[in-house]
Amino acid sequence: MFEYPRHPAHLQDLKAELHGELICPNDRGYEATRKVWNGMIDTYPALIARCADAVDVVKSVQFGRVYHLPVAVRGGGHSLSGSSVCDGGIVIDLSCMKGVCIDPEKRTARVQAGLTLGEFVRATQAYGLATTTGTVGGTGLAGLTLGGGLGWFMGKHGLTIDNLLSVDLVTADGQVLRASASEHRDLFWGVRGGGGNFGIVTAFEFQLHPVGAVLAGKVVYPMERAREVLRFYREYTSTAADELTAYACLSTTPGGLPAIAINLCYCGSLEEGERAVSPLRKFGTPLVNLIRPKSYLNMLMQADRGAPAGRSYYEKAHTLSGLSDEAIEALVEYGRACTSPLSQVLIQHVHGAASRVGPRETAFALRQESYVMSIVAAWDNGEASQTDRHIGWTRACWRAMEPLASPGVYVNFLGDEGQGRVRAAYGINYERLVAIKNRYDPTNCFSLNQNIAPTNKEVDPCLKQREYQRFCEAFAPLSNQIS
Ligand SMILES: Cc1cc2nc3c(=O)[nH]c(=O)nc-3n(C[C@H](O)[C@H](O)[C@H](O)COP(=O)(O)OP(=O)(O)OC[C@H]3O[C@@H](n4cnc5c(N)ncnc54)[C@H](O)[C@@H]3O)c2cc1C
Repeated sequence: MFEYPRHPAHLQDLKAELHGELICPNDRGYEATRKVWNGMIDTYPALIARCADAVDVVKSVQFGRVYHLPVAVRGGGHSLSGSSVCDGGIVIDLSCMKGVCIDPEKRTARVQAGLTLGEFVRATQAYGLATTTGTVGGTGLAGLTLGGGLGWFMGKHGLTIDNLLSVDLVTADGQVLRASASEHRDLFWGVRGGGGNFGIVTAFEFQLHPVGAVLAGKVVYPMERAREVLRFYREYTSTAADELTAYACLSTTPGGLPAIAINLCYCGSLEEGERAVSPLRKFGTPLVNLIRPKSYLNMLMQADRGAPAGRSYYEKAHTLSGLSDEAIEALVEYGRACTSPLSQVLIQHVHGAASRVGPRETAFALRQESYVMSIVAAWDNGEASQTDRHIGWTRACWRAMEPLASPGVYVNFLGDEGQGRVRAAYGINYERLVAIKNRYDPTNCFSLNQNIAPTNKEVDPCLKQREYQRFCEAFAPLSNQIS
């Protein structure tokens, strides 16, 4: 552990000192850099620090603190809530930090926090290795990992956090710490599910596993068969081997047909995989069956096409302990009533190794076998007048499912839904997370996230307001001039 000198840097100093780039509103790259994956998010930060290394992160945090700026932290910029950018504050952007170091003997990867899942998997698969990640290549590794990380290998290898060995993290007071099972253990417990609440992670170390070709893809049926397909899915997943993770998805085919798909990945031997998918192959006549051996990397890259940057997205989620007939009826009703051909209801089966970790072992409390349901409305930005209709469909579906849902919700699928939902996400772990927040970020410097509010706030809110005012008066005009 070491400390960098603390001094209030002026804007030009910060610009000169960063190894990366400081982007101000008049700079050429500002427009492109302020945007994130979700086209609904339209914020105007005062400064964007495109960090090249941990030292840049420390300097940016210190600058933000001195002037009490809102501090947003950007990994892949893929959160639906857009919490990685902000109006008027400083965005600490890690997306240029893409270093990777693989140890093929130990089967570990030490990586910087700016990688996307696709970049991470490309690097590890070069050695025939991988670990659990999310399903879409463009998603940021950092935000996904800090929230938990559901993915195709969770039955076999657990969540992404279950494969995390250590993190390097910059705290609110500018310290650089390593947290692992043997160093800063409380912090290591907290970052495994507690999001970006305790500091900015600049590097992650993961355990990897041998992963060759997987048997994967989807089988698509017309929406008229949604009820029987969901019942089949319930039976099929209830006996699934750890190697088999299957999702159900109500959506619309590229040809415009409302449909339901079972999308799966088997990560054991291809022969055993064939046996595991044969009940699905025999289940009725699908519109299309795309299950075949493929590379894990290809799976992720293909999934990117279904989730392009720049569209408008709105999401709400639930956790279901089971798929009751009542739940299936509601899903079918809202699948049919979907207002946009780009929208979907996705059901992810959390099972196997992910559900064998105790709910108190990491900050991620939702360890029982379950179905994580996310209702994602998507529409083209040209359709702004339709926004209320698409959001209305999401909310109506969410409300219909609410009486059937468990109290917990996956934090990475939460929008701006208030403290009650954040508490619900952490459940029995919330109080312990508050204690860690009080220790590492007592002034809530890192508040633009699913926030675990500290209970021993050290900063006088009037002082905070005055300092922020000072920044706006002194530096905001300047930030428009310096380039
Ligand atoms: C198309 C799509 C597919 C998805 N699929 C999956 C999936 O299969 N499984 C799954 O589990 N989730 C999935 N998600 C959800 C995803 O895990 C979250 O949106 C996650 O926050 C994305 O991380 P990011 O780094 O891209 O996000 P960002 O928007 O950059 O950040 C999200 C949050 O994390 C914080 N943060 C980011 N990096 C750091 C850091 N280095 N240190 C501290 N805080 C940080 C940010 O401040 C912000 O609050 C998906 C999301 C999308 C949009």
